[in-house]
Amino acid sequence: MSNYNWCHNPSCHTIETQSRVRGTGDNKVLRTVKIRSGSHWRKDSIFDFFCNNNCLFQFLHKFRQEIANIRPVKQPSETPIKVEKNKYESYRYRWNGEGGTERIPYQATRTTIKLVDNDNG
Ligand SMILES: [Zn+2]
Repeated sequence: MSNYNWCHNPSCHTIETQSRVRGTGDNKVLRTVKIRSGSHWRKDSIFDFFCNNNCLFQFLHKFRQEIANIRPVKQPSETPIKVEKNKYESYRYRWNGEGGTERIPYQATRTTIKLVDNDNG
């Protein structure tokens, strides 16, 4: 098993950065970025296959239809929830026109979404 991947963006080698320049003299090229795997922060990450966000999103854009076809979504999914609303005292600050602010109390509402246990896992 190799310990590196080449960036999977098919256009990686066309992006003009110093880090992609390889070769000597008049035989220079822009080369696809080599990604060393095994780095702790990259482990099991999409960035084992793409050198940066730009290359990742160029790939996603170019292959968007194929990616959508991997796992077609024909209908929405739903997650059962309970919505709890709790009122509490809060404050906002208003400019008092005299170089300061005044604290204005108001009744705020905190909305909390709670997942409902179900048998479907
Ligand atoms: Zn790349």
